[in-house]
Amino acid sequence: MRAFPDAVDVAIVGSGPCGAAYARILSETRPDLRLATFEAGPLLADPPGGHVKNIADPAARERAQRRSEGPGGSRRGRPGTFLLGGEGLPAAAMSTNVGGMGAHWTAACPRPGDSERIGFLPDLDDLLDEAERLLGVSAHAFDDAPFAAEVRKRLAAAFDPGRSEDRRVRPMPLAVRCDPDGALTWSGADVVFGEATRRNERHTLFPEALVTRVLVEDGRACGVLVRDLRDGGEHEVRAARVVVAADALRTPQLLWASGVRPAALGRYLNDQPQVVFAVRLRDVGPLEIDPRGRSRIVRQSGVSWVPFTDAEPFHGQVMQLDASPVPLAPDDVPAPGSIVGLGWFCAKDVRAEDRVEFDDTARDGYGMPAMRIQYRLTVRDEAALDAARAAVRRAASALGEPLDDEPITLPPGASLHYQGTVRMGRADDGTSVCDPSSRVWGVEGLHVAGNGVIPTATACNPTLTSVALAVAGARRIAEEI
Ligand SMILES: Cc1cc2nc3c(=O)[nH]c(=O)nc-3n(C[C@H](O)[C@H](O)[C@H](O)COP(=O)(O)OP(=O)(O)OC[C@H]3O[C@@H](n4cnc5c(N)ncnc54)[C@H](O)[C@@H]3O)c2cc1C
Repeated sequence: MRAFPDAVDVAIVGSGPCGAAYARILSETRPDLRLATFEAGPLLADPPGGHVKNIADPAARERAQRRSEGPGGSRRGRPGTFLLGGEGLPAAAMSTNVGGMGAHWTAACPRPGDSERIGFLPDLDDLLDEAERLLGVSAHAFDDAPFAAEVRKRLAAAFDPGRSEDRRVRPMPLAVRCDPDGALTWSGADVVFGEATRRNERHTLFPEALVTRVLVEDGRACGVLVRDLRDGGEHEVRAARVVVAADALRTPQLLWASGVRPAALGRYLNDQPQVVFAVRLRDVGPLEIDPRGRSRIVRQSGVSWVPFTDAEPFHGQVMQLDASPVPLAPDDVPAPGSIVGLGWFCAKDVRAEDRVEFDDTARDGYGMPAMRIQYRLTVRDEAALDAARAAVRRAASALGEPLDDEPITLPPGASLHYQGTVRMGRADDGTSVCDPSSRVWGVEGLHVAGNGVIPTATACNPTLTSVALAVAGARRIAEEI
C-alpha cells in the first residue's frame, strides 16, 4: 500500500502543463513548502510527464498512448485521448496520464493578440515570457527547414498587407528543443516540472491517484480526498492551498463534486471551430527525409503561423502533414515535406449557455459526476467559419494545389482547446469563477488552472496562455502562504 501524506502545504490536482507550472514555480520560489501533485492517470515516461513523441520505439509509443486513453471502454479520440461522448461537442476528448494532454500535444505556442488578450492583466507579457521559459518555447526549431522560408513568403504575400509587425506571418513558436545532432525533443510536462521540481525533495507526484473531492470547511479549501486507483484506498490529505488543474472539463467537475458551484461554473465553454485543408506545395522538388530527426515531423517545411487579428479573427497554422489531422489519399505518394496541412482555428462567440453540466446521480468511468455538454454554434460562429474557409482557400492557392475540392470543417470539440469553464474575471459578478490570480471567488485557498481559466475568445492554441495564468497563480500562493 502506498503512503500518502496526511498534510501538505499545496495539493495540486492534475499533472499536465498547468499543474506542473504550479509545482515548478513553487519549487523555485518556495522550496520550504511541502507539495503533492495527484494525477489520475499512469506514469508513462522517465522523467515523468515526457512527450510520447520522444519515445523512439513505435510499439512503446503506441502503448503509452493507449494507457492515456481513460478507463476501460472509453472511445478513442486522437491517439492518447478518449472521447467524452454525447452530442454537444462530439469530438471533445481528454487524456488521463502523467503529463495530461501535454504528453500528446503538437506543442504550438503562439501568443494571443488583439482581443484574444486578457485586458485586465497588465503583466500578461511578463507572464507569457515566463510560460515560454517553462515550456522551452523556441521559434527556431525549424530554421534550417529548406521549404519553410518559401512557405512563409507565399503566406506573407497573401496575409501580411495591412497587419501590424507583430501579427505578420512568422515561424510558429514551438515547445520543442532541437539538439545539435538535429534530433527534436518535444516538451511535455517533464520540461515544465524541470529539474527544480524533480530535485525538490518536498514535492511528490502521485500517479494513479484520483482526487474525488476538494475538502471545504467554513468557506476555505483545506485538503483533498484521494482515491488510490492501484488499490482503491481512500486518503484524506490536508492542505493549506488546493490547485485544481484537471483540464477544462474535469476542473469544474471536481469543483461541482466538492459542492463548489458558482453560477459561472462550467459555463462560457468555448472550443475553437476548426477548418483544415491539405496542399501540395507548388514548384518544390523532392528532398530526402532528414535522417537525423527521430521524430517523423520532417524538417522540410517547418511550422508557419498566420496570427489572429481582430480584422481576420482566426489563427492559422501550416505544417508538414504528418503532424496535422488531414488524411492523405491512400495512393498518394508525395515528395517528402512537399505536402502541408493547413489548420485554421476560429474564436467562438462566447455565451453563458454553452456549458458542461454535471449529473448528481449518474457517474462517469471514474465514478465522478457524469458530464453533459450544451453547445451551439451561433450565426456569428457560422459567419466566422465561412470567413475561415475563405482564408484557408486563399492560403492554399498562395501555396500550391489543394488535395481536395473544399476545406474540411471539423466537428465541434476537435480543436482540443476547451476554454472558459472556470473563467477568470475582474469582479465576482456571476460571470466568472476565479479572480485574476486564479483564486476561486468565495472559497479561500482554492485555485483553478488550465484552459478553462481563459476568459477571452481565443483562436490561438491556448496552452502558453494558460501556463502564463498558472505562473501568476503560483506566484500568488508563494507570496501568501
Ligand atoms: C493531439 C493534441 C494536440 C494538441 N496541440 C496543441 C498545441 O499545438 N498547442 C496548444 O496550445 N495546445 C495543444 N493541445 C492542447 C494541450 O495539450 C492542452 O491545452 C494542455 O495539455 C492543457 O494543460 P492542462 O495542464 O491544463 O491539462 P491537461 O494536460 O489535460 O492535464 C490535466 C490532467 O488532470 C488529470 N486529472 C483530471 N481529473 C483529475 C482528478 N479528479 N484527479 C487527479 N487528476 C485528474 C488528467 O488525468 C490530466 O492528466 C493539444 C492536445 C492534443 C491532445
